[in-house]
Amino acid sequence: ATPTSIMVGTGRAAELGILFRKGEALQGLRDTQIIAVDKTGTLTKGKPELTDFQVSPGYGRDDVLSWVASLETFSEHPIAEAIVAAGKARGLPNLEVSGFEASPGFGVRGIVAGRKILVGADRALAREGIEVTAFANLASDLGREGKSPLYTAVDGQLAAIIAVSDPIKETTPAAIQALHAQGLKIAMITGDNRHTAEAIAAQLGIDQVIAEVLPDGKVEAVKQLRKNGKKVAFIGDGINDAPALSEADVGLAVGTGTDIAIESADVVLISGDLRAVARAIALSRATIKNIK
Ligand code: ADP
Ligand code: MG
Repeated sequence: ATPTSIMVGTGRAAELGILFRKGEALQGLRDTQIIAVDKTGTLTKGKPELTDFQVSPGYGRDDVLSWVASLETFSEHPIAEAIVAAGKARGLPNLEVSGFEASPGFGVRGIVAGRKILVGADRALAREGIEVTAFANLASDLGREGKSPLYTAVDGQLAAIIAVSDPIKETTPAAIQALHAQGLKIAMITGDNRHTAEAIAAQLGIDQVIAEVLPDGKVEAVKQLRKNGKKVAFIGDGINDAPALSEADVGLAVGTGTDIAIESADVVLISGDLRAVARAIALSRATIKNIK
């Protein structure tokens, strides 16, 4: 590709809200075979809502929700915002919290009104030896509906299952269709529950799902996809997407995401609309025709 064609291509892209931080990324996009994409905040809005809340026998709903919501006021995770909002909507009081601790990829813990509260994914409870099998059927039903199941333990006992649902962006189905029409394979990489991830992937026609990935595992997932010389672009928005954005042949950050994701990316999509990715690929193909 000539410097002039790259300038023309990246200039045209800028008009479409696609900022190339590196000119080479235009060629990288043209050569891309697999698009790997983060789920939360990239395919979905990243604004989950609490949809379901069921307690174990012997626990009061409002009691458990107020303990959990009080604890989650200290977390910055979007899931925490959903739970805090649900507590507020029910007019529940904010109780005193001490010893708050967040465990990325697992959940949060702390002492609320004298009780040890743990909230998070099944693996967060499993590593404390707390079984979640009492809610297994409900959890798989919730997962099939594309909702993410979370669990609460109170003083080491399973006390509740919570579901949050994060709507798919209105523009995502068309974006996936356009990328498929361009002959690309799409892989979703997420820390979320496997059943939930598979339900969302099925809804969108995504080709491959890599779920229940711990925060530092996304980069490993991209490495795996790059095996055998496959050219992989990764799209993400979060702090823990930064290493994967660097690892991919082309890293595309959603401009509505975190600063660290944007700094690690080769390309920045100004809006959260993933149809821009297909437009960028079309542009790369049109601009860089005669190389190799
Ligand atoms: P993702 O952004 O894909 O959800 P994370 O690594 O941030 O990935 O979180 C993985 C999982 O850990 C979440 O899906 C959730 O089950 C659990 N988790 C993380 N933070 C919290 C929190 N503040 N409250 C409850 N669960 C949490
Ligand atoms: Mg994300």
